[in-house]
Amino acid sequence: MFATRQLQRWMAEGFRAMEALVFPWVCPICEEPGADSPFCASCRHDLLNASGLVCTRCAMPMGPWSNRLGGCAECRGRPLGFDAAMALGPYEGPIRDLCLLLKRDRNAWLAPWLANVLVDAHAEIQQMPADSWVVPVPLHWKRQWQRGYNQADALARGVSKRLSLRLAHPLRRVRSTPHLAFAGRSERAKVMRDAFEVRRRAALGGRTVLLVDDILTTGATCGAAARALKRAGAARVVALVIGRAEGIPLK
Ligand SMILES: [Zn+2]
Ligand SMILES: [Zn+2]
Repeated sequence: MFATRQLQRWMAEGFRAMEALVFPWVCPICEEPGADSPFCASCRHDLLNASGLVCTRCAMPMGPWSNRLGGCAECRGRPLGFDAAMALGPYEGPIRDLCLLLKRDRNAWLAPWLANVLVDAHAEIQQMPADSWVVPVPLHWKRQWQRGYNQADALARGVSKRLSLRLAHPLRRVRSTPHLAFAGRSERAKVMRDAFEVRRRAALGGRTVLLVDDILTTGATCGAAARALKRAGAARVVALVIGRAEGIPLK
């Protein structure tokens, strides 16, 4: 089933590419015709500048006068698992719509375009060591089998291509985690603990890893994945996402 879906997706991507030669792109945000990319110039400009002033540790938006030493009010003094986080922008408006589109495998063709904008928005990603790995946050095999598609994987593929870095899959999700949409931060962290394992023989020693997911909320998922990577020897883990959502505050 997985192979069939994969084939269908490749065919859909191929058709879309051919179609683009004949019909102009239609911007998925404003529906205006684009030129040589699906995003029109104005929406692309907005996406590139969506991030604004953010915390370099957890990618939360910050005010211009806030104290940035050691992170922001959200993450200061809190071990996150990863060393830095970068997002295309806050999980709202067009970025939220794009994340929702990307959840469906028929929109997988969007992933490389979004990956490109993400890299363009963060020049520092282009300075990663040449032996860095691009690693998607995996789904549990049951979920992957049911859905046949992981948007994090599609994004990671785009990032690795654009940066000419190796796309690697050293992580395994060993626990199928319940839906966490309404869980608070500590509850999420508890559920996510030990949710990931690193495959044996993954040569992570001393490596920088770009850990790719679609959305960062409380940081529990990326944090758990990053901790597993670090236990296996990774030197630095940078979380890379499209949307930065605010974690649901603890009551
Ligand atoms: Zn547009
Ligand atoms: Zn922060």
